[in-house]
Amino acid sequence: MSKTYRVIASIFSSRTAAWLGCALASLVIIHSTAHAKNSSSSNTKTALRGVRVLVGRNVEAFNFRSANTLTFENIDGEIFHQTTPNQRVRIRVMNGEIKINGVADSMVAFIVRSLPDAPIKLSMRRKRGWSEAISYPGSFRCFISNAKKIHIVNQVEVETYVAGVVAREIWPTFAPQAYRAQAIASRSFALCQMQHRQSKEWDVTDGQSSQVYAGLREDRTGRLATQAAKYTEGIVCIYDDGTAPQIVRTYYSAACGGMTQSAAIFGPADDIPPLAGGVSCDYCKIAPRNNYRWGPVRYTKQVIFRLVAARNPSLRSLGKLRNLSIIKRSAQGRPVTIRLYGDDDQHENMLVEQFRLCLDGSKLRSSDFRMRVVGDAVIFENGRGYGHGLGLCQWGMEGQAREGKSAAEILRYYFPGSLLQRAY
Ligand SMILES: [Zn+2]
Repeated sequence: MSKTYRVIASIFSSRTAAWLGCALASLVIIHSTAHAKNSSSSNTKTALRGVRVLVGRNVEAFNFRSANTLTFENIDGEIFHQTTPNQRVRIRVMNGEIKINGVADSMVAFIVRSLPDAPIKLSMRRKRGWSEAISYPGSFRCFISNAKKIHIVNQVEVETYVAGVVAREIWPTFAPQAYRAQAIASRSFALCQMQHRQSKEWDVTDGQSSQVYAGLREDRTGRLATQAAKYTEGIVCIYDDGTAPQIVRTYYSAACGGMTQSAAIFGPADDIPPLAGGVSCDYCKIAPRNNYRWGPVRYTKQVIFRLVAARNPSLRSLGKLRNLSIIKRSAQGRPVTIRLYGDDDQHENMLVEQFRLCLDGSKLRSSDFRMRVVGDAVIFENGRGYGHGLGLCQWGMEGQAREGKSAAEILRYYFPGSLLQRAY
């Protein structure tokens, strides 16, 4: 254990315990007495409930398989179906009715577990055919969605989830301290979501709008990610304003391009000093081509209007896109709000971050650009960074790790005023 982490471990104070009691109480499950007797510790242990990850949205057909027995429980905890090891189970939904191996049932939700615990392989039917089976740890909760299809939620232990996310969100060649910083950021983000989405059906999704997760990864990157999760187990990034400590929603993106941006533009919930942005960073210069600097990228006004209106139907009332301009910038000059002008002097405003994702986030790589309107063409140039630019800059994290900075130093740099503490 490094000196930094000994310090972190030692600040697991009574104040933290009190905070844990309040802030995380609803996420904690108490192990049964039997479990406590069997464990090496004589004390009853507490643990966090698992993370609920939406891995399938409005799916019509999917398969489960495990090397062990799979059990299917209804919402009362009664087992109504069981497989032999390696037997594939086919699930379909038609007109809101679930069929398991062709047998219809009137239930609206069920839970799938492997007994004894083993990875469960999931394959889903997509528009272009069946997806490759992915191995997931933990269990699944499946339920009928509003669209009369099925949502599939993987329920996974927090540290296993963190390792799974790190394995997908990090570049395999990154330094060990970067892996550890990523693990703490991914854990903090997940716990923050778990706190704020208690009453919802899931805590996180498995894509880029949340944290990328695709179950278990067993190659070298997966092993390094698991090591990083273990090394930093339970450590989260918190902000304490002197009244109520809170877990920081530790956003991260590929490269900030020179300066991080404020989370406050997305709403008041994250308007706290660690997410205020304005952290200067040229460590991400080492990022691959088109990550630190990008452009020019050219669109026509017609194409922009079609793409933006496709995701925001109310904008069709503009009739046609006649012009665009940046009407609000951050203190550091980063575009924040764009105005779209239509027929008859009508106009609508959008966050530039939303605007670029309507076009193509892999072309318009960040909201930090210069925009020129030339006749019918709109040219985005002098682009800086890749991603939303909030919080942790991942290539900056790697740049700092290569210079010998620790995970704790890196996180304190990108989340100013935050502290690392053990949540459990
Ligand atoms: Zn950066």
